[in-house]
Amino acid sequence: MSFLENLRAGFRRFMTGRNGPDQLSLALLWAGLICSLLDAFAHTGLLSLLGMAAYVYALFRLFSRAVDRRRAENERYVQWSASLRTRLGQARVRFQKRKEFKYFKCPQCKSILRLPRGVGEVTVTCGKCRHSFTQKA
Ligand SMILES: [Zn+2]
Repeated sequence: MSFLENLRAGFRRFMTGRNGPDQLSLALLWAGLICSLLDAFAHTGLLSLLGMAAYVYALFRLFSRAVDRRRAENERYVQWSASLRTRLGQARVRFQKRKEFKYFKCPQCKSILRLPRGVGEVTVTCGKCRHSFTQKA
């Protein structure tokens, strides 16, 4: 076995029975990175400390042998962040399609609606609350 294969097998043995990476650990690493970057500009020290705490907690979770507890934490995080992740995903799609569609909110129920760009001024009926209004696109 080569040195690299040995190293890989050793790491696999080391990680057996440990939690490994999951969504919460990844989110903690991102939070730590964002805190560190913000602190590079703000120089508060507190953000740097928060970033370090996030890194340490992410590493603790990565190597933890209490897999059941880490999975329960991850499940709570996934449920808690579901609506935020959905809204971020929808915002990304709107940004990608911003040249094809004009996005706007229904004045009554605040639902996000869209029209193909270049249709001019049209009467729109909201699919959610049936409110009708004119919109330029
Ligand atoms: Zn509406």
